Amino acid sequence: MIPRILAIAGSDSSGGAGIQADIKTVTMLGGYAMTAITAITVQNTRGVSAVQALEPDLVLAQIDACLSDIGADAIKIGMLGNATIAARVAERLAALDGKVPIVFDPVIVASSGDELADAATIASFAVLIRLATLTTPNVSELAVLGGSGAMVAHGRAWLAKGGDRPGAVVEDVLTIPGEAPHTYAAPRIETRHTHGTGCTLSSAVATELGRGASLPEAVERAREFVRTALRKAPGFGEGAGPLGHAQVMR
Ligand code: PLP
Repeated sequence: MIPRILAIAGSDSSGGAGIQADIKTVTMLGGYAMTAITAITVQNTRGVSAVQALEPDLVLAQIDACLSDIGADAIKIGMLGNATIAARVAERLAALDGKVPIVFDPVIVASSGDELADAATIASFAVLIRLATLTTPNVSELAVLGGSGAMVAHGRAWLAKGGDRPGAVVEDVLTIPGEAPHTYAAPRIETRHTHGTGCTLSSAVATELGRGASLPEAVERAREFVRTALRKAPGFGEGAGPLGHAQVMR
């Protein structure tokens, strides 16, 4: 079975994050990657120098072209570009009636610290969280989204990623409504090459869900993929460099 995965996300010219990380991740995990690009970012490992969101109609047309023909076993949502695109994407995905697993990475800032979502876009995240099978905030994204209390109120599963919290052990906690929390802990991999870890993790979870894995299994395998890619980072660039997606052997 080849899971068909649609990534709705922004392009990262330097290839480490965004759509490029999504394609590499899905491909390395044996899935078939499709894309609906929301925005073009001009960036490298040092930072983001320009962002251009695409016309919302063009984003929707990409989604429809993929879903109406090849179809999808799971969908990953990353950078949305602006509030209009976010609202249109939400409307389109709501029409799927929960039949396709959706992983939402609520991208707010790049690893360089540059902003990738404005206040209006962030305000539209709540509707996507309620549509998503899993939302994957990091420490600062979770705070902006209102913390655990707000996530509980949405009534959907979420993965609180702990990589940004200092400490020798990195702990991610998966909360599924009605279940005891699933905690994943492992020694921190010391590296500055963390560009695209969030994109990679969410795409890997989507691929595994598309293959039929349960949420806890999908998160477990996705974490392992990210950790291996972190260990195999090629060391490119002067800033936060990319992961070694292509060096992860299944
Ligand atoms: N999406 C795009 C297009 C990006 O450029 C970035 C970071 O630069 C991200 C998402 C988020 O990156 P990360 O996976 O490091 O959180």
